[in-house]
This record gives sequence, C-alpha cells and structure tokens, in this order.
Amino acid sequence: MSGPKNFKKFFKKMPKKRLNLQFRPSYISRPLPAAETVEQVLIQKAQYKEMFAKVNAEQCPVCFGQLDGEVYFSHANVYCCANGEEEYKVFYRYGVEYPVYTRTTIYLGCYGYEVDSEWMTDDDFNNVICRFNLNLNFRESDDIKEKLLDFIGERFVFDADSDEKSLMNKINLYRTLS
Ligand SMILES: [Zn+2]
Repeated sequence: MSGPKNFKKFFKKMPKKRLNLQFRPSYISRPLPAAETVEQVLIQKAQYKEMFAKVNAEQCPVCFGQLDGEVYFSHANVYCCANGEEEYKVFYRYGVEYPVYTRTTIYLGCYGYEVDSEWMTDDDFNNVICRFNLNLNFRESDDIKEKLLDFIGERFVFDADSDEKSLMNKINLYRTLS
C-alpha cells in the first residue's frame, strides 16, 4: 500500500494556509518623511507630479487597464483598475526608472501563474514565477504552489498574448540562462 500510514500525522505536516496571500514588501508600508520647509514642500509637490504622470502612463500588462491606487511624492503603490491587484500590482519608487516590484497573475488553461519581479540593482531583477492548479480547491492550491522560476537578471515581462505554451517556452528560456 502506498501513501502515508497515518493520515493524522500526514496532514499535520502540510503547511498551514496563509491568511493573506498578498505579497507586500516591507518597504511599501514605510512611513513618509514629513516636509519641514517650504522648499521641501515644493520639491515634494514636483515629485508628486512626476510620480502621478508616470503612473498614468503605465498600464496593466494583462488587460491594458489603467493603474489606480496610492500615489505619493516618494512612491506609488498601484494596481490594475479593471481587475484589481489580483491581476496586476506594482510599486514605484521616486527616482528609480524601473518598477521596484510587480506581481502579475494570469490564468492559462488549468493553471494560475504568479509572476513576481523585484528590482535588485542596475538592470537586475529577481524574477519568481509560481504556478498553481486551478482544479484544486483554494486551500490545496495555495499549499502546493509550484515554483517554476527563480531567476536574477533581466526583468521577466509577461506578454499579454501569451498562451500556456509560449509562457512555458519563455520560462524555460530564462531557466537555461540561470
Ligand atoms: Zn488588468
């Protein structure tokens, strides 16, 4: 007979379900420094305008919807306005050309794919892609997220017209580079 002999023990070993699936890098909730001088207020206003324009110019890579959320002079924490942060969320920091962090979630075939990219330094990103089977119930699928890629290098950008095959081809290409 295959399988665990003692199911009680077996299920105890299963990782506990996390209540909040959302990955939120700690720097997102960092408090903002208060402006102390008129000069600082003016600088912050100018920076805010830039951040606002940057966010307005970007769109969700999945549905091309606009981005919505919190925009400050120092950073922006925004998400797809059409389908929410469950589809696309992104964190920008003032003065950093690239998005500091993005999570794109897409559904292809019987799988959901979570594509995380976090800016490290220069042109390098830490790209992590996990896959979960949509045929399993929510609890199970969270417990058995399968990591397909953990790659530091060029930012992994999700192509909106990807199908399952082209996405896996792209992931495999990154794999060969890592
Ligand atoms: Zn979207």
